[in-house]
Amino acid sequence: VNVDVKLGVNKFFVDENNAHIELVENPDSVEFAKLIAACPAGLYKKDDDGSIQFDYAGCLECGTCRVLCGKTILQKWEYPVGTFGVEYRFG
Ligand code: SF4
Repeated sequence: VNVDVKLGVNKFFVDENNAHIELVENPDSVEFAKLIAACPAGLYKKDDDGSIQFDYAGCLECGTCRVLCGKTILQKWEYPVGTFGVEYRFG
């Protein structure tokens, strides 16, 4: 079974009113490119016109983006509150 199929069985409880990750305005494009390559959920993207896209809803809470870029890109990185966030299913 490949990783995409495995990831597909995780459940996400998305806190629509409270993003647990927020980006700085106008992130550095070199730093941002690292996250495009590194985020296992593929949440950091660039449109064809070069504008950046980020959606926190599928976050696996792995912390990779925080470790890689810290405050150069992220003005906020917290675990989702309470019961929000990813619920891993094993097996
Ligand atoms: Fe992607 Fe992991 Fe950062 Fe979530 S914590 S946005 S899954 S790199």
